[in-house]
Amino acid sequence: MKTDVVLVGAGIMSATLGALLRQLEPEWSIDVYERLDAAAAESSDAWNNAGTGHSALCELNYTPQNKDGSVDIAKALNVNEQFQVSRQFWAHSLETGVLSDPKNFINPIPHVSFVHGADNVKYLRARYEALAANPLFEGMEYIDNPEEFTRRLPLMGAGRDFSDPVALNWSDEGTDVDFGALTRQLLNYVSASGGTVHFGSDVKNISKQSDGTWDVKVANLRTGVKKTVNAKFVFVGAGGGALHLLQKSGIKEIKGFGGFPVSGEWLRCTNPELIAQHSAKVYGKASVGAPPMSVPHLDTRVIGGKPGLLFGPYAGWSPKFLKQGKLTDLPSSVKPGNLMSMLGVGVTELGLVKYLVSELAQSEADRVETLREFAPKVIGKDWELVTAGQRVQVIRKKGRGGVLEFGTAVINAEDGTIAGLLGASPGASTAVPAMLDVLKRCFGDRYTGWQPKLKDMVPSLGKKLAEEPALFREVFDWTSKSLQLDDTSRVAQPTGV
Ligand SMILES: Cc1cc2nc3c(=O)[nH]c(=O)nc-3n(C[C@H](O)[C@H](O)[C@H](O)COP(=O)(O)OP(=O)(O)OC[C@H]3O[C@@H](n4cnc5c(N)ncnc54)[C@H](O)[C@@H]3O)c2cc1C
Repeated sequence: MKTDVVLVGAGIMSATLGALLRQLEPEWSIDVYERLDAAAAESSDAWNNAGTGHSALCELNYTPQNKDGSVDIAKALNVNEQFQVSRQFWAHSLETGVLSDPKNFINPIPHVSFVHGADNVKYLRARYEALAANPLFEGMEYIDNPEEFTRRLPLMGAGRDFSDPVALNWSDEGTDVDFGALTRQLLNYVSASGGTVHFGSDVKNISKQSDGTWDVKVANLRTGVKKTVNAKFVFVGAGGGALHLLQKSGIKEIKGFGGFPVSGEWLRCTNPELIAQHSAKVYGKASVGAPPMSVPHLDTRVIGGKPGLLFGPYAGWSPKFLKQGKLTDLPSSVKPGNLMSMLGVGVTELGLVKYLVSELAQSEADRVETLREFAPKVIGKDWELVTAGQRVQVIRKKGRGGVLEFGTAVINAEDGTIAGLLGASPGASTAVPAMLDVLKRCFGDRYTGWQPKLKDMVPSLGKKLAEEPALFREVFDWTSKSLQLDDTSRVAQPTGV
C-alpha cells in the first residue's frame, strides 16, 4: 500500500498537521494510524491534561525573577505569541467549516497568578509592572486587597488568614481548552476531506527505503493482521511513543536524545457547590527545587459544556512513556547513542529525584493540605484522585553528558522525509506553531508556495505581534469574535461562599 503521508498517533499534533496538509495539498493521500480505539485518548484527552490555553498570562515559570528583583518576560512573550498563532488557525478553521462549535473546545476563563508571603507579593507586583505595559498582556490587573480577592475567588478567600499578605495578577483573556474535543473535530475534518484514520493500528517499525520513502509496519490490534504502508512523508505524533519510533527509524538526528517519564495526578472536585464557587485558572508558585511542570494550580475546566474543578498536579512516577504504555518503555529507550546523555542527567538532576520521592511519599491527607494553601476550608471527601497523562521530558546531549529539558523539540531528518515531536510543554497550546515548524523544516521547497494559504489561516505569520500593537489588536479581536470568547455571558460568575 502506498500513501503520500503517514501520521502516527491520533493526538492534537497529528490532527493539527493533518488539517493543515489537507488544505495545503488536497490531492495528497493521508493515513493516520492510532494504536488505541479512539482519538485523543492519551495526553490530549481532556482530563489527562489541564486544558490551559498556555499564553503566559498566569504561569509564573515563564516570568523568572532576576537577581536584581526585576522580572524577565522574554519566555512569556514567546509563549503568548505562539498561542496567538494557534488562536488564529482555530478562528480561521471555524470560519471555513474545518471546525464547528467553538464552545465544544474553547471557553473563556480568567487566568490568575496567585502568591502569598511578603517577598512573593513584591515579585508579583514587579511581574505585573513588567507585563501590563506590553500589548500582549494589556488589561492585566494587580490585586492585593483581601475583600477584592475574596469577591473574585470566593473559594480561595473563605477562611483565609490575610495577615499573610496575598497578591494576584488577573487577566480576563484566559481560556480553557478541551484539546480532546478539538482533536476529534480536526480529525473529523481530515476524514471528511479524504484522509483516513485507522484505529487499533499499532505502528511497529519505520524503515527508510533506497528511493527515500519510508516503509511503515502496522499491526492491526483487532485482527492481528500486519501490513506495510509505504509513505513519502512520515510524522511521528505518537506523544510518549515518539522517541522509540524515531530511534527505530535510524535517523541520525535522534541520537543523543532520551526521555524521562513523569506521571501526574489531580484532585478532581466532586461537589457541584464548590465547583460553582470558583471560576478561574489560578496558578501558584512551584516550591523551591520543583520542576516547572509541578506548579500547583486550581483550575476551572469546561468539558462537554459542564464546569469542573481540578487541583494539582501531584507528581507520580512510572517507567511507562504512555499512560497505556509498557513498564519496559524507559529501559528499552536507553541506546548506545543516548547512554551518556541519560547518565549525565542521572547525576545532575538529583533535585528532581528528591522532589519525585517526596511527592510519592504524600498521603491523601498531605495532598489535601497542599490544596488548602489555595482553598483553606476544603475537606478531602469533596475530591477524588485521578491519574493524568504521562509526560516524557526531553533529555538532550550536552557536552559529554546530557541535560533535562521541560519544553518540546521537533526532530526531523535532514532530507525532511520524517519528523516527530518530543516533550510536553507548553504542549497542546502550541500545536499550531509546532506543526507550522514541521512544515517549514520538512517541505522547504513548497513552504514558500504555501505562504498565501498559510497567511489566510494565520494572518500574523512571520510577525511579532508584541512589536505590532495595531495588528495584535486586530487579530485578537477577530479571534475573540470567531471563537466566541468575546461573549462575556460565557464566563460564569462564582457564587459566594
Ligand atoms: C499532566 C499534563 C498536563 C498538561 N497540561 C497542559 C495544558 O494545560 N495545556 C497544554 O497546552 N498542554 C498541556 N499538556 C501537554 C499536552 O497534553 C501534550 O503536549 C499534547 O496533548 C501532546 O499531543 P500529542 O498529539 O503529541 O500526543 P498524544 O495526545 O499523547 O497522542 C499520541 C497518540 O499516539 C498514539 N501512539 C503512540 N504510539 C503509537 C504507535 N506506535 N502506533 C500508533 N499510535 C501510537 C497514542 O496512543 C496517542 O493516541 C499537559 C500534559 C500532561 C501530561
